[in-house]
Amino acid sequence: MQTLRVRDDHRVQDRPEDVAALRRALDEARAAGDSGEVPIGAVVVDASGTVIGVGRNEREATNDPTSHAEVVALRAAGAALGDWRLEGCTLAVTLEPCPMCAWSSARGTRTTVLPDPCGTCCATAV
Ligand SMILES: [Zn+2]
Repeated sequence: MQTLRVRDDHRVQDRPEDVAALRRALDEARAAGDSGEVPIGAVVVDASGTVIGVGRNEREATNDPTSHAEVVALRAAGAALGDWRLEGCTLAVTLEPCPMCAWSSARGTRTTVLPDPCGTCCATAV
């Protein structure tokens, strides 16, 4: 199991599948912001690079405090695969995951986070 959180590390963004997933996550973040949610988006891709889960913050719309973008995307991916473990999958998210989301994605899923605009963060591997 490896969870990789990348901040201010452009090597990972050079991977075409990461770039595509992060762009899709940004689209979801914009849509969340347009609908009055905190603008965070997330996408789960399988090992072949196919999108299997998409999410955006939905706490206001659902009145569910766990409806973070990452959790929404992870639920969709688990349902699509028929397996909650999500082995070999990548979670692309527009913001460093909170502890709940980090824990939820920690098993078998690699996490790619957009670089922090402030450029003060660094890459970490857990
Ligand atoms: Zn979260």
